[in-house]
Amino acid sequence: MIAVEMVRLLAARRDVVRKIAELKRQMGIDAIQPSVEASVRQAMMDEAAKHGVPPETVQRLATLLFADAVELQQKPKTTLTHFDILRRAVELQREGYEVQRLEVGEPDLGAPIEVRQSVAEAVLGGFARYVDSRGISELRTMLAKHVFEKHGVEIGPENIIVTPGGRFAIYLAVKTLLREGDEMLVIDPSWPMYRQVAAFVGARSVHVRTRLEEGWTPNVDEIAKYISPSTKVLILNYPNNPTGKIIKPEIFEKIVELAESKNVTIISDEVYADYADRHVSILDKTDARKHVLIQSYSKSYGMTGYRLGYVVADESLIGKMASILGLVMTCVPEFIQHGGLTALRLKEAPKEYAQIMMRRIEIAVNELEKIGLEFYRPDGGMYVFPRIGLGNVDGMRLAFELLDSKGVAVAPGSIFGGYDDFIRISLGAPEQTIAKGIRLLGEFLREKGKR
Ligand code: PMP
Repeated sequence: MIAVEMVRLLAARRDVVRKIAELKRQMGIDAIQPSVEASVRQAMMDEAAKHGVPPETVQRLATLLFADAVELQQKPKTTLTHFDILRRAVELQREGYEVQRLEVGEPDLGAPIEVRQSVAEAVLGGFARYVDSRGISELRTMLAKHVFEKHGVEIGPENIIVTPGGRFAIYLAVKTLLREGDEMLVIDPSWPMYRQVAAFVGARSVHVRTRLEEGWTPNVDEIAKYISPSTKVLILNYPNNPTGKIIKPEIFEKIVELAESKNVTIISDEVYADYADRHVSILDKTDARKHVLIQSYSKSYGMTGYRLGYVVADESLIGKMASILGLVMTCVPEFIQHGGLTALRLKEAPKEYAQIMMRRIEIAVNELEKIGLEFYRPDGGMYVFPRIGLGNVDGMRLAFELLDSKGVAVAPGSIFGGYDDFIRISLGAPEQTIAKGIRLLGEFLREKGKR
């Protein structure tokens, strides 16, 4: 049977891949080599053309083979996750220990009182029926106006879908733009959901690294090298989680130009946009309908638990997303959408929250300077991502050690794409918690003989 023969060939290929992995490890070469992948892909396409095999099928096969090879070549992952840190932090608190909770990506600000009241009133008023899967038209119309006020881009309610938070919005965008065997480019360090959601829909996430030494600025030529015929999506996230970076408008523009020249759709995750005094948006750079904007009420209005976000995109793509949202959950609860309407009327709330975050950034920066760590000074967002300078360590183990010995919970850099020598400090906590946490981190590193 030919199919069985293909499995034997796959096994032979995996043996070779393992040997190459060993050599790469010895020589310190990255698992993904875009130029090698491109030539293998081309050779496969040439062979496909000779035999009349559809190019689409071969492109997908190539992507699957590369994904398999990279998985074999990457170092074994620890089974611990970010949630284990959170669980341990809660456990320690329950046992009566003081813990500086700087691991969660959730602002402690809560929703404005007007939002809380309007949702309570909407519940009492019976606004709790099935509604349009895309969201109630009043909210979509108001969001379109909001987008116009912010970016000067004319869009209509047909370009918007209201979602249960930014996370689900990203899932919808990824699910509608990628098929099994397609590729999605991600710029690292990156929020772990991106790689997880790509894998969940059977796509391959391909990661382009950025470096602290270069101010976490992506290199556009390097991105270009990683684009293959299977690349359908590039995901951008500025202000960035975990670095707090906002790229310059000219870099953003170059990335958009590159993506458009290669028919790659950008998903721009801008959920932290309000936590900054300047911002570049995908909507400032191009026709709003060409790409996909992800937004959320979680950060701008402190409405994490309300689960409310939205997508701006082309009407036909919004239609596809609405079919999925309708299929799995019918609609976002109507009374929550009423809270969304009220929030949009509060012009000052996002500004107040942003000021709180900016003050916290200042405090974190001062404390980190005192303990002498290297980091990029955040342009916005709610995180700082310092290098701890311990060299080749297991980031997850180190985060546990810091938690157990000093009662400081942070997210290890390993979860953002293998940045083991970094940690993410969340500024979702009060000023004194941030300051104390960083001082204790300093103590921890001193005791390790590093400061
Ligand atoms: N994007 C990024 C980069 C995030 O960090 C988060 C939350 N941690 C989200 C999207 C989604 O947030 P939510 O689902 O609460 O809107």
